[in-house]
Amino acid sequence: MTDPHHELDAVAQTDQDVYDIIRAEEERQANTIRLIASENYTSRAVLQATGSVLTNKYSEGYPGRRYYEGQDFTDAVENLARDRGKELFGAEHVNVQPYSGSPANLAAYYALCDVGDSVLGMGLPFGGHLTHGWKVNFSGRFYDAHHYGVDKETHLIDYDEVRRVAKEVKPKVIFCGASAYPRTIDFERFAEIAEEVGAKLVADIAHISGLVAAGVHPSPVPVADVVSSTTHKTLRGPRGGLLMCKEEYAKDIDRAVFPALQGGPHMHAIAALAIAFKEALQPDFKDYAAQIVSNARAMADAFNERGFDLVSGGTDNHLLLVDVTGRGSTGKIASTAMAKAGIVCNANSIPFDERSPFDPSGIRIGTPSVTTRGMKEDEMRQIVAWTDEAIANADDDAVLERIRGEVEELCGEFPVP
Ligand SMILES: *Cc1c(COP(=O)(O)O)cnc(C)c1O
Repeated sequence: MTDPHHELDAVAQTDQDVYDIIRAEEERQANTIRLIASENYTSRAVLQATGSVLTNKYSEGYPGRRYYEGQDFTDAVENLARDRGKELFGAEHVNVQPYSGSPANLAAYYALCDVGDSVLGMGLPFGGHLTHGWKVNFSGRFYDAHHYGVDKETHLIDYDEVRRVAKEVKPKVIFCGASAYPRTIDFERFAEIAEEVGAKLVADIAHISGLVAAGVHPSPVPVADVVSSTTHKTLRGPRGGLLMCKEEYAKDIDRAVFPALQGGPHMHAIAALAIAFKEALQPDFKDYAAQIVSNARAMADAFNERGFDLVSGGTDNHLLLVDVTGRGSTGKIASTAMAKAGIVCNANSIPFDERSPFDPSGIRIGTPSVTTRGMKEDEMRQIVAWTDEAIANADDDAVLERIRGEVEELCGEFPVP
């Protein structure tokens, strides 16, 4: 069989099974409303670079200092990526080699502290990430990990509490940044606390790096010792990781990534990242990021009007956490019903959740993907109306099927890149 769109010709000829799976996933991404806060749609340019011959090259080391010959073009592309990353974030030093966000965080720990040292991060049940010291993760096993959370009433990070815990446990490293926190993070407050207790500050902007790059969320780059990120969330690049730091940590960060933790860099991903940085440097990326936030606010308003409980009452960024238990539902029941209706999100714990993480009280909803498709506030209100209806009719397949038809119609009006 051949590929009607040509770009997967060889896949179609070599492996019908994989071809069919890729095309089916492509269709799923096009025909559903994707509200998973960590996902996005890259440009065709980013996709093509990811599928390029750069995947064939071994380039252990850094530009100008490689272990194998034949590095003229890998050096060129890695230098482009690093320079554009520095320009985009105003960083003194950038390392574009981490394979993804988790390995980037591993490298940050490796560069800044020793096994067994005290570290402090946001607890997973409050919106932190596994790599911020959670017990089932390397970070919770290799380090003496401590946690802070959010205020029980406001659901905001309680900086006095962070400071109190930091003074008590004297961490070598403090991690800030989150996977499920709908509000602005005060990086300066964290930097003050880190300074006061003699800790290094790592700001993990995996989720919000696109917002930071566009200036719609304050940047930690001027105040944090190290900034880590993924490249595939709001930044809209290929799957990958990124580390930025002050010049004084540049050598330690580079040595932590290679040779301490990784082997050869994924040059196809680095080339795609160079393209994503170029895209993010264009003026329309600022509009994109601002629209992500406006769309999230429009959704928060619509949920509030319909009487849903939102964690912290709303959002400042690209995501919201909706407590669905007030509607007699659960996170799992709601997200399953929504998925049947073609609206894809994830069940998520809310702060102080009394339910299990496998069927928590909330759902997490993000706007990066729908905003990439060009959807705006009107569509957000429509999506919330469908979500409300799906949750209220979770066991009525006819209703969910009808919504799914309407969802597909809307998706047809907003093509994916
Ligand atoms: C997504 C995320 C990561 C990890 O990224 P992966 O690429 O999935 O390894 C790290 N930190 C935070 C805060 C995240 O949200």
